[in-house]
Amino acid sequence: MDCIFCKIASGQIPAKKVYENEKVLAFDDINPLTPAHTLVIPREHIVDLNDINSGNSAIMSDIFLAVKEVVKIKDVDESGYRILINNGRDAHQEVFHLHVHIFGGRDLGPMIKKG
Ligand code: AMP
Ligand code: ZN
Repeated sequence: MDCIFCKIASGQIPAKKVYENEKVLAFDDINPLTPAHTLVIPREHIVDLNDINSGNSAIMSDIFLAVKEVVKIKDVDESGYRILINNGRDAHQEVFHLHVHIFGGRDLGPMIKKG
């Protein structure tokens, strides 16, 4: 399978790792939009949230426990941070391997552009 995040998870492609365990991996976004911009991914290939079901939903807990570790490592746990998942076309999802963005390190402005 030609999935860039699977390749990062397996070590085929380098990434700036921030945190990892048996289930998940966190690494800095290659094109950071904020001073802290880290992605958390499951090691298992899961396309998006539509791919989550009762059989694999425990990974969401693993992902959010990893988020808690990452925000401490990035020192934004107290200052604040934003979690974002782009899911599908309207959200401009570019990489079809589930990932949670963590943004922080500056004032993040309004939640979303009004449209
Ligand atoms: P999206 O699918 O819209 O949530 O965005 C995918 C994100 O992955 C973008 O913010 C990219 O900058 C990031 N990205 C793509 N390739 C890499 C890579 N090789 N290493 C780190 N981040 C990446
Ligand atoms: Zn993948």
